[in-house]
Amino acid sequence: MTWDKTTRRRLSREQGTIFKDWGGRIPIALIYPNTYYIGMSNLGFQTIYGLLNSYDNIICERVFWEGGSGPKKSLESEHPLEDFAVLAFSISYELDYFNVVEILKSSTIPLFAAERNDSHPLVIAGGPCIIANPEPLAPFFDCLAIGEGEAILPSMLEVLSEGIQGKRDELLRALASYPGVYVPRLHDGKPVSRQWVRNIDDFATTSVILTPETELGGIYLMEVARGCRWGCRFCLAGYLFRPFRFRSLDSLQAQAETGLKYGKRLGLLGAAISDHPELDELVNRLRHMGAEISVSSLRIRPLSRAVLRGLAESGMKTVSLAPEAGSERLRHLINKGVSDKDIFEAIDDIAAQGLRQLKLYFMIGLPTETDEDVDDIIKLTLALKRRIERARSRLTLTISPFVPKAGTPFQWLPMTSAEILSHRLATLKNSLEPNGIEIKSDSIGWSMVQGVLSRGDRRLAQALSRMDGKSLSSWRRALAECSLDAHYYVNREIPFDERLPWSNLDSGVELGYLERELGKAHLGEETAPCQLAECQECGVC
Ligand code: SF4
Repeated sequence: MTWDKTTRRRLSREQGTIFKDWGGRIPIALIYPNTYYIGMSNLGFQTIYGLLNSYDNIICERVFWEGGSGPKKSLESEHPLEDFAVLAFSISYELDYFNVVEILKSSTIPLFAAERNDSHPLVIAGGPCIIANPEPLAPFFDCLAIGEGEAILPSMLEVLSEGIQGKRDELLRALASYPGVYVPRLHDGKPVSRQWVRNIDDFATTSVILTPETELGGIYLMEVARGCRWGCRFCLAGYLFRPFRFRSLDSLQAQAETGLKYGKRLGLLGAAISDHPELDELVNRLRHMGAEISVSSLRIRPLSRAVLRGLAESGMKTVSLAPEAGSERLRHLINKGVSDKDIFEAIDDIAAQGLRQLKLYFMIGLPTETDEDVDDIIKLTLALKRRIERARSRLTLTISPFVPKAGTPFQWLPMTSAEILSHRLATLKNSLEPNGIEIKSDSIGWSMVQGVLSRGDRRLAQALSRMDGKSLSSWRRALAECSLDAHYYVNREIPFDERLPWSNLDSGVELGYLERELGKAHLGEETAPCQLAECQECGVC
């Protein structure tokens, strides 16, 4: 086997790569529809790679989208996509849908599932976007995993092992009979129930491969908790990964022992790790084991001083917090659960620990936002800057437009127009950059595309299939060719009685609960965080 130069370099710098013999095994290509650099920091992708390869009769190899239209090959053995029995996509971001299409088009495998036959690989997908609303991609896939891979893959693999050589229709019928497996072509209208792991201690969710060539390079990633208790009304993680679950201290310690064989650095991941009831003790134990720890982001409340101290002692320089909105009014509306006072206290604690770089995440275009709310972002940021300057810390802001997501209470709401978003972003930049505050922002144009795809329906697959390169002009042209209007998808409030494209799926959260949450948002009422198993309000537990 001869690998190209980049592949050879990548493989030589990796630790933990799994090489298996193809003989007698079902070959599965696990595809991340973005670059190696981004994909290798995705813990979900790494987990599925480890899980699939834990089966003796399966060989799983990775494929990444790296731009260019040439045929894609697996990293481990450079086999082309056509050689695999199964192509399994792991999809985390709507804007990667374009790369999904490009990857399939770069092969000789027909793009649409209906055009494939028994000789083609089975094309499947999972990941957060698929769990929320797979409809814009549904015509490309034979089947979709609605839920957490650890909960669905074991039964799926059993069916695949028996039926992959047989008739495709029979295989699809067998797959469709399992919970959490959505076969768009055979769907009978009964919502497919999202599946999740009851006890996350039953499965390790850690880095399998370490490489310096990725965003979180050289860090052994460990999932501390899954889901989130807080239920911010715009947030996918807060709804589609319910209920909130956390790992036991002992299992985390055992994972850390494995991680420390690779190096000193451990990355603690989870949407709300601060809610782990024994986080202080975990950090103490890891520090005693000699680990340097880092975290993806922290909630403003609760924010533990012991954890901040552990991070500072580990040499971590940057802390990320997400106030999301400048005004308390909007933070009530989105159910953020933090006051101005909480933010100031958090900033003081961070500065006191000597953490010198603070990243703040805000959204613009939140429901009912006015220019005054944007002024409040400016006032809050400047007040925080004055506070942290005393400790010689630096502040950067990341601004993202609000994009309504399927499965959340804000799923019915429109996006703010691109003109208003651009105006508000310019206001923030003009007011804050001259004060030495660096601002990073998502593209307004691409955020609108994200909005179309996040609440989109099956008709969008035709537009995706007609893309000629990934550009806004090509997207507009493709929509026009399919007589589709972006405003219909993004700038429209969807009535409660309209059938939603993603109603083929049942996330477990009752529709009535989402409606009530939206009603409370409009009244500015907050909902208390889930009380773990005792709550039972949304229907999941
Ligand atoms: S705190 Fe809010 S924004 Fe963060 S993960 Fe939980 S629900 Fe989402």
